[in-house]
Amino acid sequence: VTLILRSFKITPRFSLCRHSSTAAPATKLFINGQFINSKTKDFIDVHNPATNEVVTRVPKTTQNEMQAAVDAAKTAFKTWSETSVLTRQQVMLKYQQILKDNIHDLAKVITLEQGKTLIDAEGDVMRGLQVVEHACSITSLQLGETMPRIARDMDAYSYRLPLGVCSGIAPFNFPAMIPLWMFPIAVVCGNTYVLKPSERVPGATMMLVEMFKEAGCPDGVVNVIHGQHEAVNFICDNPDIRAISFVGSDIAGRYIYERGSMNGKRVQSNMGAKNHGVIMPDANKESTLTQLVGAAFGAAGQRCMALSTAVFVGEAGNWLPDLVEKSKKLRVNAGHVADADLGPVISPAARERICSLVQSGINEGATCLLDGRNIVVPGYENGNFVGPTILSDVKPSMTCYKEEIFGPVLITMTVDTMDEAIQIINTNKYGNGTAIFTTNGATARKFTNDIDCGQVGINVPIPVPLPMFSFTGSRGSFLGDTNFYGKAGINFYTQLKTVTQMWREADVTSTRPATAMPV
Ligand code: NAD
Repeated sequence: VTLILRSFKITPRFSLCRHSSTAAPATKLFINGQFINSKTKDFIDVHNPATNEVVTRVPKTTQNEMQAAVDAAKTAFKTWSETSVLTRQQVMLKYQQILKDNIHDLAKVITLEQGKTLIDAEGDVMRGLQVVEHACSITSLQLGETMPRIARDMDAYSYRLPLGVCSGIAPFNFPAMIPLWMFPIAVVCGNTYVLKPSERVPGATMMLVEMFKEAGCPDGVVNVIHGQHEAVNFICDNPDIRAISFVGSDIAGRYIYERGSMNGKRVQSNMGAKNHGVIMPDANKESTLTQLVGAAFGAAGQRCMALSTAVFVGEAGNWLPDLVEKSKKLRVNAGHVADADLGPVISPAARERICSLVQSGINEGATCLLDGRNIVVPGYENGNFVGPTILSDVKPSMTCYKEEIFGPVLITMTVDTMDEAIQIINTNKYGNGTAIFTTNGATARKFTNDIDCGQVGINVPIPVPLPMFSFTGSRGSFLGDTNFYGKAGINFYTQLKTVTQMWREADVTSTRPATAMPV
């Protein structure tokens, strides 16, 4: 552990919570405020995507340990839910400062396990930190509603109350941001939590909960279990878990939504995407192409809001050679190397899948304008690298269009009119995000009105909403009806209790019992 930490210059203040017995240290569980070694014999290796060296082993948490995590959360709920809102706010205020002070160390762990560049990893933490900062406003966010005099001597008011034990299941691509979309909002509302990070990137979560403990989070309020399907099934089935936040792929998202809902839980499920950028001929060419390249290839295309499909309208189709030139200039390297623009993809299997989807496009008639499949990064020959790749002449019927590629591959199409572009986007099964590039307000307005996607950018390539709004992916990108963070996030993690009260100075009640429905 020390060697890994030293090679990434991680200060020892937050420990990564790993236990070293054999070559690779095992990541711990976090149950009832304690970092403990799992008793399991079953581990999953976590690799550095730039080298494929094993950096940690993630335990497949045993049933007893998972039950202990829920029991701890259930017990902690009794006191935490009765803690004053000001106390919960104070924990969040301290937490946001600790996170701010440790952004660089968190970023190093993210780069080590996930592969993204250090600067991008800092952005990962920052976007999660903004959710924590927003949670500090819980004193207004959790206000209920009141209505005096709904009848004679009668008033009504509603409280927004926590649900109980809640749970989150996170993906690999944002190791800090997405866990921070989940447990801070739940906990600041008075819930307690069992979090299952992605088994591919556990390190950031372990640091996040260690920092939360330092901020004053009482034992048992947040717990971390690890694993894959068994841990997911446990969360979906456990009768004490009231709500599940999921972010990840379609297969897992649909499965968790269905299984969790069947068990009477609230589930919010953010899933895959295919985000289109529409480039109008009146757009500012230079800034549009620059934004497009950054949004397609940043994080090696492993963002659910990556702009993975570019639809060029009319004359804008002539900009393809310039797009290729700009993309060629990106530097592919290990994420911690200074000046790297994009790092490796998460695993050899992901690399293989990405390359085979590119090949399928070529086989089905697309033209490969830039091929990053055979890239070799000196010093990191074992890494899972794919360089920026661009396909043109792509048609909606092609597999490379229908599937989410989730790699540094930009597929491009050309159409004659914006209406054609809108038709393509609205026919695609996903509705996560889209962006239009134009200098014409009326064009932008028409696009905004006609497009059926949950998040729209106008000259903004990755329109991920800040936490005063919510993350509002739609159609095939989302299951549930209450989105992550913002007002919707508070609603997801609270239930309403409405009180109707009558107080009379003198008893003027009729002696005859009212048997009709009171109106
Ligand atoms: P994933 O579905 O493989 O893993 C996500 C979580 O689900 C992990 O914790 C994993 O252990 C669990 N899991 C995996 N397979 C499962 C299965 N078959 N049944 C039950 N649980 C399972 O996703 P990933 O590869 O880690 O993340 C990438 C995906 O996440 C992409 O599709 C991306 O678009 C999506 N994503 C969506 C958003 C969004 O907000 N819409 C944000 C980030 C990522």
